[in-house]
Amino acid sequence: MGVVMAINAQRALKVIVGDDVDDLFARAGAVKVNSSRVMIGAGPHAGTKVLDVAEERPGKTMHHADLLRELLAPIPPENMHASKKLVRIEEATSRPLTLHFSDNTSTPADALIGADSIFGFVRSHVLPPAHPAPMPVPVGWVGTINMVPTAKAREKLGAQWFEEDRQYGWCIGTTIAPWTREGGERRKAVDRAYLEGVYEGWEEWVKAGMIELLLDQADPAAYATYEHLDAPTYVNGHVCIAGDAAHAMAPWQGSGAAMALEDAVILGGLFAKIISPDEIPRLLHVYNEARRPRTQRIAKSSRQTGRILSGIDEDVGLDPGRMREALKDWWSFIYDFDLDAHIASAVKALENRA
Ligand SMILES: Cc1cc2nc3c(=O)[nH]c(=O)nc-3n(C[C@H](O)[C@H](O)[C@H](O)COP(=O)(O)OP(=O)(O)OC[C@H]3O[C@@H](n4cnc5c(N)ncnc54)[C@H](O)[C@@H]3O)c2cc1C
Repeated sequence: MGVVMAINAQRALKVIVGDDVDDLFARAGAVKVNSSRVMIGAGPHAGTKVLDVAEERPGKTMHHADLLRELLAPIPPENMHASKKLVRIEEATSRPLTLHFSDNTSTPADALIGADSIFGFVRSHVLPPAHPAPMPVPVGWVGTINMVPTAKAREKLGAQWFEEDRQYGWCIGTTIAPWTREGGERRKAVDRAYLEGVYEGWEEWVKAGMIELLLDQADPAAYATYEHLDAPTYVNGHVCIAGDAAHAMAPWQGSGAAMALEDAVILGGLFAKIISPDEIPRLLHVYNEARRPRTQRIAKSSRQTGRILSGIDEDVGLDPGRMREALKDWWSFIYDFDLDAHIASAVKALENRA
């Protein structure tokens, strides 16, 4: 799958990787996204451009796996333990934690940062037992995804969409997919009949091309989109959650990975300031205070973005003018974010709690 690193994600990566970040993007095969262009895909305004998102502050897109490969490359192999599944967290007496894995191994730890994703396990350790938020809930949208060579996409969709490196989103006035809520299914196999139903009312050229491209894979499927209800805390003692484990969000503002990177930057900045494991609960408290407001605001705004981009917001509909009005500056609070000030304020809060 491809991922876009928006401008704020690029800033966070620069803090993590340093000046090498442009080389890292080059090695990962990143391509500049000249904008994310929102288009009307169905109805009387089909073919109308709504607006360009992030034209002034372009993102970079690449294969998710290539980005991960490059991020992991500098880490010494002896510090990585892949294919180990955490199954239990024990609050030991000699050290704060013992982590138990499914292969019957265990390890002592001063702290645990649970970045174990949306269906992860650490969230249920962090949240109060009676709280409804540990398990993710379906947002109602589904996505069918395929990655194909650009030449093939150009051939099926038309060369006019490939004159510049751009991301396109087509708004068609979809309803929310009820099957994700009714049966709790996370994945559903799709075929031509299903896709023709989904694309009913679309412009013929895009409908035919997209169906061909989506069926051009071994097991085409629709995947349900999930998000978390707002967690009252991201922290419990020496344990915290970060990334999707803390704040999984609908992907409409392309910010989930960016938030995971910002979480990492704040945690890194704070851990650099302590000298004893005894300081960890205090540090994690500061992390929680710093990160919850921003990440939960973006989760809420991403959900609303989905309603507008899907054309199902009652006040906006599939009207290009109203959509433009609703969406202009919509991403500003995400992109125009002062990460340096965010780090400095978290570090100051840590010092003040000493
Ligand atoms: C369709 C779609 C498009 C998106 N596009 C964008 C985009 O353009 N830009 C953007 O910023 N974000 C985007 N996102 C969001 C982004 O993909 C996620 O927010 C991001 O991958 C979260 O990273 P993470 O490290 O928190 O979790 P993950 O990437 O899910 O990694 C979690 C890791 O934890 C491991 N794990 C799970 N359980 C355990 C366990 N018990 N023990 C040990 N390890 C465990 C997993 O194996 C996995 O390796 C998109 C999401 C979707 C669905």
